[in-house]
Amino acid sequence: MVAAGVAACCVLSSVLYVQVRSSRRWTCKLCGDKQSQLKVYGQSSAADCRRHVQKLNLLQGQVERAAADRAG
Ligand SMILES: [Zn+2]
Repeated sequence: MVAAGVAACCVLSSVLYVQVRSSRRWTCKLCGDKQSQLKVYGQSSAADCRRHVQKLNLLQGQVERAAADRAG
């Protein structure tokens, strides 16, 4: 059984949409690293997961821009 999930890659520290299998492992599409399902934020429908990923990445971008503004 394959479930849709939202997970964070520990290598890139970016959030992405993943398909989690019962093996309790998932592979990051961006860097190809094997990750533990412990880092999965949540599981829902595919549409919900994609929305959640977009929101988290948007927030992360805002934090990085704010830090850059303070530095500059
Ligand atoms: Zn990765």
